[in-house]
Formats: sequence, structure tokens, C-alpha cells
Amino acid sequence: MKVSIDADLCTGCELCTDSLPEIFEMKDDLAIVIQTDVPADKEAEVQEATDDCPAEAIIVE
Ligand code: SF4
Repeated sequence: MKVSIDADLCTGCELCTDSLPEIFEMKDDLAIVIQTDVPADKEAEVQEATDDCPAEAIIVE
């Protein structure tokens, strides 16, 4: 699984960075991905963060 964030959609709510700081980080008031290749044991949590993102800015593929 790979994860990315659409910077045009992210509102910087910090939900994903709070729940998965090993994957997401705040930079200039927006979330960025610091680990694009999601470890297998984190895939369920990343999927959950994707589903929970209020801006639907997280993309998994
Ligand atoms: S949960 Fe979504 S809107 Fe909130 S910081 Fe993360 S990517 Fe941005």
C-alpha cells in the first residue's frame, strides 16, 4: 500500500498526524506523508485514517 495526501484538499486538522505520527507529519500547517510505503502492520490504521479524514485528502493505492 502507498499513501499520499492531496495538499489542495488537506485542511490541516491534524487528525492523521495525531493518530499516525510515524506516517504523517505537519509541515507549514498541512499534513505531509513521511513514509510513503506503508508497512503491512500499519495498513489497517492508514485505511482508517483515510476513511476518517474530514477533507478526504488522503489517497491510498
Ligand atoms: S486528516 Fe486529512 S485534513 Fe486532517 S491533516 Fe490529515 S490529511 Fe489533512
